[in-house]
Amino acid sequence: MNLADLKTVESILRPAGFDFKKSLGQNFLINDAVCPQMAAAACDGDMGVLEIGPGIGVLTVELSKVAKRVVAIELDDRLRKILPKSLAECDNVEVIFGDAMKLDLNEIIKEKFADCNKVCVCANLPYYITSPIIMMLLESKLPIENITVMVQKEAAERLCAEVGSRESGAITVAVNYYAEPEILFEVDRQSFMPAPKVDSAVIKLNVRKAPSIKVNDEKRFFSLVKAAFAQRRKTFVNTVSNTTGFSKDKIREALHNLNISPTVRSEQLTMEQLAEISNNLN
Ligand code: SAM
Repeated sequence: MNLADLKTVESILRPAGFDFKKSLGQNFLINDAVCPQMAAAACDGDMGVLEIGPGIGVLTVELSKVAKRVVAIELDDRLRKILPKSLAECDNVEVIFGDAMKLDLNEIIKEKFADCNKVCVCANLPYYITSPIIMMLLESKLPIENITVMVQKEAAERLCAEVGSRESGAITVAVNYYAEPEILFEVDRQSFMPAPKVDSAVIKLNVRKAPSIKVNDEKRFFSLVKAAFAQRRKTFVNTVSNTTGFSKDKIREALHNLNISPTVRSEQLTMEQLAEISNNLN
């Protein structure tokens, strides 16, 4: 059964009375070149794969061919009837029904992948929660090698931008703190059913063993970063003083100590400079 074939997808979904829910980000892949490429980029035969949102299992099947074991988490209960049939031939796959944002993924990894050398996350993410899912995966400090996911093209550009470039934002800094990001390939909107209004891209976040920079207080660092990118048109001093309790003088002093111009914009700052400012403001 080719789950990327439009007629096959329709023949599975129609009898079940399944209609796509936009609120769940349901755009299913119907391009059979994409999932094998994603699976090959994400994992190998010693690895366990955590998939978020299998849909009817088009990516799950390809992951099961490459990986040792696949655990797929699906929120939509209506797929309870469909997935056992579409994944009938995959004996190394388990589906857990629940919300990936609420389940204890550390516990799932510990319990389900005890016999796997390494673990990764691979998914065609529901676009309505792309950033929260990626941040949750990184902040949970899961024992994973990489996060290989399909996201909207614009999100891919932001997530994988260089910190210190115009495209960077708070999430770029957070991603770079925990991982080395790369864009693998682009995917045309016509590769999905229903077709979304934008193109997509597959990105790989290679999770670091230790953060890319040293900060004295992680919580303070991330709240400073969030504040720094909250008002993109303003200078760093203005936006940070508007959105935190620090006075302009105190922020200017921190910049002066680090030889950074008082008129600098947040998007011009490097990871190291952001870390130094955060440590200095402490
Ligand atoms: N993997 C399939 C594919 O590539 O065709 C489906 C991808 S579709 C973009 C996103 C999937 O995520 C849907 O199956 C949707 O029901 C599921 N989903 C949405 N929110 C979820 C959540 N919070 N936890 C788990 N799955 C979720």
